[in-house]
Amino acid sequence: MSICISLNGVLGDAESSRISVLDRGFLYGDSVYEVLRTYEGRPFALTEHLARLEHSARLLDIQIPCSLDELRAEIMAALTASGNEDSYIRVVVTRGSGPIGLDPALASDPQRVVIITELRLLPEEVYETGVKVCLVAAGRSSASQLPMGAKSGNYLTNLMSLRIARQHHAHEAIMLDARGLVAEGSTSNIFAVVGGRLLTPPLHVGLLEGITRNKVIAVARELALEVAEKELRARDLRAASEIFITSTLREVLPVTQVDGWAVGTGRPGPTTLRLRQGFKALARQESRAC
Ligand code: PMP
Repeated sequence: MSICISLNGVLGDAESSRISVLDRGFLYGDSVYEVLRTYEGRPFALTEHLARLEHSARLLDIQIPCSLDELRAEIMAALTASGNEDSYIRVVVTRGSGPIGLDPALASDPQRVVIITELRLLPEEVYETGVKVCLVAAGRSSASQLPMGAKSGNYLTNLMSLRIARQHHAHEAIMLDARGLVAEGSTSNIFAVVGGRLLTPPLHVGLLEGITRNKVIAVARELALEVAEKELRARDLRAASEIFITSTLREVLPVTQVDGWAVGTGRPGPTTLRLRQGFKALARQESRAC
C-alpha cells in the first residue's frame, strides 16, 4: 500500500479514512504534529518525537486521546501494514470538533492520525552541490510564535516564506524575526561555521527545537568541535565559511548560496561533510536499537 493511515487506531487508506470538516485542525490549524522517518524500516528518534508531540500538545492544551505507548503501537502497526522498505511518518493530533467558534473549550473528541507514505529523499547530487537559501523577513516576533516551541498545524508564515524562496529559485527560506535575527528555515534549523566555531540560533529567538538539530549538536561535541548557540544576523551568515540546514527528512544539507552570494568556497565544506557522515551513522545505529 503506498499510503497507509491509522485514524484513531483504525487502519485504513487515504480514501477510507475521513475526518469531519468541522474538525478544528481543518478550520483553524488547531492541531499538533510530528514528522519522522525510518532507517532500514525502523523509526528514528521515535521517543523524542513522541515527547515533542506531548510537549506541543501540553503547550496548546490539546488532549492526546491515548497514551504515548498506544500511539507508539499504532505507529508501528501502520508501518508494518504499509509494507514500505522505508517510510515517511506523519503523526497529527487535532483538538477535535464541536459547535463552530474559536473558543477551544467548544471542542471535544480530539482526533489522532498517523499517515505513512514511502520515503522520498533528495537526490545525492543535491548534497554534493549544496542548495541555495533565501533570507525572508518573515516579521516573526517571539510573541507571534506563542506558544514558543509548539509544533502546531498552523504553518502559514513558514509556507508563505517558502513560497517567496521558491519564487527566487531557492530550496529553503531562512526566516528572520522582527529584529532581523536569523530564526530557522520553513521546515529546518540552520547552522553556520564562523571563525572555526559551529553556531546555531538559540531557542529563545523563537524556533522549533529540531530533533536533528539536537543530534547534530551532540555529534559535533563528539567530534570535539566548538559549538555554541548564538544570535545570528545576516552579516554573521555572510562571514560564515560553511552553512547547513538540518531536518528529519534532509538530515544535514549543505547550503552553498544565500540570496545572491556564495557561502565560503561555494562548495560544501569539510565540517558540514563530517557532521553529515556522523549524523547518518548515529541515525542508523540508534534506529537499529529501536
Ligand atoms: N523548524 C521547523 C519550523 C520545522 O518544521 C522543522 C521540521 N520538523 C524543523 C525545524 C526541523 O526539525 P526536525 O529536525 O525535528 O525535523
